[in-house]
Amino acid sequence: MRLTRYFLPVLKENPADAQIVSHRYMLRAGMIRQQAAGIYSWLPLGFRVLKRVEEIVHQEQMRAGHIPMLMPTLQPADLWRESGRYDDYGQEMLRIRDRHERDMLYGPTNEEMITDIFRAHVGSYKDLPLTLYHIQWKFRDEMRPRFGVMRGREFLMKDGYNFDVDRAAALHAYNRHMVSYLRTYERMGLTAIPMRAASGPIGGDNTHEFLVLAATGESEVFYDSAVTDLKLGNRAVDYDNRAEVAGICKEFTTLYARTDETHDASLFDQIPEARRKVGRGIEVGQIFYFGTKYSEAMGATVVTADGSRVPVEMGSHGIGVSRLLGAIIEASHDDRGIIWPEGVTPFPVGIVNLKQGDAATDAACDGLYKALAAKGLEALYDDRDERAGAKFATMDLIGLPWRITVGPRGLANGKVELTSRRTGESEEMTAAAAVDRIAQIYAGR
Ligand code: ATP
Ligand code: MG
Repeated sequence: MRLTRYFLPVLKENPADAQIVSHRYMLRAGMIRQQAAGIYSWLPLGFRVLKRVEEIVHQEQMRAGHIPMLMPTLQPADLWRESGRYDDYGQEMLRIRDRHERDMLYGPTNEEMITDIFRAHVGSYKDLPLTLYHIQWKFRDEMRPRFGVMRGREFLMKDGYNFDVDRAAALHAYNRHMVSYLRTYERMGLTAIPMRAASGPIGGDNTHEFLVLAATGESEVFYDSAVTDLKLGNRAVDYDNRAEVAGICKEFTTLYARTDETHDASLFDQIPEARRKVGRGIEVGQIFYFGTKYSEAMGATVVTADGSRVPVEMGSHGIGVSRLLGAIIEASHDDRGIIWPEGVTPFPVGIVNLKQGDAATDAACDGLYKALAAKGLEALYDDRDERAGAKFATMDLIGLPWRITVGPRGLANGKVELTSRRTGESEEMTAAAAVDRIAQIYAGR
């Protein structure tokens, strides 16, 4: 993408109303625009990152054997009357009446609708296990929308629902979600710690929240610092192997890590003092096992192997897709701007032309741009007629992990400069070597 043909409305000044760094940088980098309290347009740069985050979520859900689909944003109130949540949900639910005076709502979550789909089409243990998910906009009329996309009213969520014949199978689905979530967050460059949580209006007794440590997080967290060293990495996981998946969950949930809602001071005090940490965290996901809460209320049953009919065992599992952008920025930035992890960056690399209009420099930049494209890498090429300082400031603000700087002086020696946004280190090399290096960094992503 050539910057002169793109739409990147960068702001020079700090927006006065943005209290936390991710919100400030998302506004300044021209990623989002607020349309109403807690409701945002995703401008091209923000949209690219959002799509990238979504793609990782899809890949890891499908890897775990979960099946993508799409349910609507608007739901009939009658489904929610069946579960009893139409009244329970309170003012967070946006209620709408259509022209025929039918009660509708903008979905804050989808347990009722998915249970309705299940009961209409599935009736036998032979069709299980089944996990369906979608990535769809939700609406919760939050009392205090704030921190940009972090606590929006309209926000994008991945929500998945497992259906299983018995408790053991449903707990395996729970564990599968935990492991797939760990991998999802790691691919986004995040350390998200599963913490034992208290169940909210979704209900259920087995639940973990995933928290990214950040001073601006809304949850108070208590943890053993050793938990932050755990990594899933690239190990191969057989998601059908119950013992293996349960083993990984045990590895990640044995050390003490809880939010204030489940904190137990006497257990916490048993951690060696040097490792006892109190901090703040951003909730980027939550998994629930709730058994037959919805299937009983809504009559979703299956025939088991011995011929009896039982309510299906369920759980639901959410990832805050749009919130993740804020969380990633909170975890990865400096005083000049965002530092995107390679896994989610809007563009893999930026090209800065130091002397726009100089025939040789322009030609070198064009060549570089095309050579990267030939390797499937779309660079953001700053081809504006601007000072070098302004170009660097824009690149630093929008946070592409790599920058290739091209100018007449380097070109005289056949060299361009490759710079890491994270370390600030630069290296001179030929344009061909820079292309190879970038291709290597992104290989397999
Ligand atoms: P919170 O406690 O932050 O209000 P929640 O526990 O009510 O969130 P869940 O029902 O667990 O939310 O939804 C799954 C995920 O969706 C959350 O872990 C979070 O990442 C994201 N999410 C929830 N509410 C919002 C919101 N208002 N704006 C952006 N993301 C949200
Ligand atoms: Mg939650």
